[in-house]
Amino acid sequence: MGDDATMIEGCSVLAKSLKDQGIEYVFGIVGIPVIEVAMACQREGIKFIGMRNEQAASYAASAIGYMTGRPAVCLVVSGPGLVHALAGMSNAMENCWPMIVIGGSSERDQDNMGAFQEYPQVDCSKLYSKLSCQPSRIERIPFYIEKAVRTSIYGRPGPVYIDIPGNFVMTQVDEKNVRYFPKCPPPPKTSASNDDVRKAIELLRSAKRPLVIVGKGAAYAQCENELKTFVEKCKLPFLPTPMGKGTLPDEHPLCVAPARSKALKDSDVIVLLGARLNWILHFGAPPRFRSDVKIVQIDISPEEIGNNVQPAVGIAADLKCVLAQINEQLNTGPFVFDSQAPWWNELNEKLEQNRLSVQKAAQDKTVPLNYYSAFDEVNKIIPKDAIVISEGANTMDISRSCIPNALPRHRLDAGTFGTMGVGVGFAIAAAVYCRDYMPEKRVICIQGDSAFGFSGFEVETVCRYRLPIVFVIINNNGISKSFGEEVFNSLEETDRLISHPPTVLSPNARYDKVLAAFGGNGYFVEKPEEIQKALKESLANKTQASLVNIMISTAADRRVQEFSWLGSIQPSKM
Ligand code: ADP
Repeated sequence: MGDDATMIEGCSVLAKSLKDQGIEYVFGIVGIPVIEVAMACQREGIKFIGMRNEQAASYAASAIGYMTGRPAVCLVVSGPGLVHALAGMSNAMENCWPMIVIGGSSERDQDNMGAFQEYPQVDCSKLYSKLSCQPSRIERIPFYIEKAVRTSIYGRPGPVYIDIPGNFVMTQVDEKNVRYFPKCPPPPKTSASNDDVRKAIELLRSAKRPLVIVGKGAAYAQCENELKTFVEKCKLPFLPTPMGKGTLPDEHPLCVAPARSKALKDSDVIVLLGARLNWILHFGAPPRFRSDVKIVQIDISPEEIGNNVQPAVGIAADLKCVLAQINEQLNTGPFVFDSQAPWWNELNEKLEQNRLSVQKAAQDKTVPLNYYSAFDEVNKIIPKDAIVISEGANTMDISRSCIPNALPRHRLDAGTFGTMGVGVGFAIAAAVYCRDYMPEKRVICIQGDSAFGFSGFEVETVCRYRLPIVFVIINNNGISKSFGEEVFNSLEETDRLISHPPTVLSPNARYDKVLAAFGGNGYFVEKPEEIQKALKESLANKTQASLVNIMISTAADRRVQEFSWLGSIQPSKM
């Protein structure tokens, strides 16, 4: 070591590298060996949100990735800390969302000795990430962090795991030997060939029953302006997927979401924008789709093209670029789908039918309320530009049709992986982000009572950071089917484990008091006017969280649907 050596600890090299890469938020839980990492991040001006379980922290970090297109970090301790975070990594992987998990690990020179929390962290993270690795030396940490950010956002987005051995954290190296890397630029734009764009437009011109499907990949691609121009120019009916909702407003006159089944089943040409033909879209197969449907598929991932259905035109490129290209060609040869076409009549008829049926259920204000009437009360009062997080089986599905979204990336839910328990973590991320960039915006977290239970204790985090989230718990005493206090109390005490139905949770549980325990405002309500009052007060409070626990009927259910929600496909089409 020369006299002019400038020594720096590993944790500071890591924090500086994160700062260089534009990381703004680190969600996590400190402990051996990452306490100093969190402190070093704060010294660099990176915000650290200390949570109560790594699972929720990993969900939170991934939500920032989805909302902003740049990754946040989830910081975890060794062994079990990382194992808890695998939940968020797998969820982000399935959702194609960027995030970086940084895990402290046992000291390198104690390898294979049964060290404290020793675990094959790099190996086990490989299944849940695009890249999983451990820097060979402290001096190389910046190289790995730049690579982590780049890998998480280039191509199909996804999570990355970086392993930091405990002995790297406080060991000092000469900073002159550390090479820092400039901020990784946004992904290079990829566009379609003019020929493919022409073919796509030709196919659209030939369509008698066209449909545009807008997936959460379109929301992520931030292509809302180009998308708006495209559908409005061509006057095409569009259908958002659950998280594609809001990319264009649900209340847009061209949105056919209330006629979803009909639109999917009868359309002859589908333009599939950033959505996979997986279970959410019934694999693109009959009976949910026509067997001769022609698809224009646009996706950033070449491997996705042709999954389950071979498209008539497959374009592996960035949606924002491709839609701009399509719009440009349409400028020279316009195409407008006939608003008098029989397809529109059929869709409009179905739209009206379904709207009326939802309206009827919503107007039934018998107490205890049903899902539709409860959501009607919520929808009446929440701001139209709110970020809405929604999870729970019926709560999520029914709220999707009852609570419209007006803005892109403003609805987060259980997603591709169908993960329950994401809600509070997502809400924390959304509220932290809003505080910095959209302070007037409200975050509304609508959860079933079961869904809230997965990470309900994170409301302590919410209250500690004074995040004014409004939680709405749709409480039916259980997971889907349940019963009330009387039946609960009549169960034979001695054989409760045999007689207690697995779907039933504690009746009239006071989730509102959980929030109140940490200083938030809790409301236990049942009647429409009580809901209105509680939500009004909650929304008026801009410095503290609220939880409105709405008791609904234990018999409440969704409307009868033409197809069961998971449904099945014809074996011949697989
Ligand atoms: P949904 O659940 O809404 O149906 P999916 O998560 O199944 O949506 O699909 C999202 C798709 O979007 C993924 O296949 C992903 O590769 C793709 N995608 C992500 N970013 C872009 C982008 N910038 N351009 C085009 N496609 C994208």
